[in-house]
Amino acid sequence: MRIDQVDTLIWKHDNKCIFSVKSFVSVLYKNNNREVEPNMYAFAKNLWKGLVPPRVELLVWFVILGKMNTKDRLFEIGMIRDVDANCVLCDAEWESVYHLFFGCKASLAIWDEALNHWGVSWSSPGEMKGCFESWMGVQVRREQKVLWMIVFFSIIWEIWSQRNAIIFKCGKFDLKKIKCNVAARALQ
Ligand SMILES: [Zn+2]
Repeated sequence: MRIDQVDTLIWKHDNKCIFSVKSFVSVLYKNNNREVEPNMYAFAKNLWKGLVPPRVELLVWFVILGKMNTKDRLFEIGMIRDVDANCVLCDAEWESVYHLFFGCKASLAIWDEALNHWGVSWSSPGEMKGCFESWMGVQVRREQKVLWMIVFFSIIWEIWSQRNAIIFKCGKFDLKKIKCNVAARALQ
């Protein structure tokens, strides 16, 4: 720190001190490699492809790893009461990462819309990493593969955005809007 210079934030894990998702991921790998199975992050090869903006890739990464501040987690660390831990999309079950993105009837309606549109049958394997791997492994026409992958990212992004809009902006669940946003992103 120098008195004649303005303080700036730097990213110490990059030679040029510039933050990038790539360097962030390499830090995560480095920090975790001692504790995890060798293939634990094999799914990531389909994640960091630049098909969607980095912030969307990053969100999906945290969702797959279950590292989200969903209400069950906030309850565990004493930030909210159990009576406030219900999912805001259905108000029927506690909000966990899996419930919010795949188990909730509201989320299922979104996935079903996409599957119906594509004429594909797919069912959730029951855990986040499996969902990502199984979605990416679905056989679709080669020229539509990229779109198919983008749909997964877009739906996760839309569910999280809607959930936050309901909690922080008194929004309402809007399946039609989600459909439009997912379609728009896929066609960009
Ligand atoms: Zn729900």
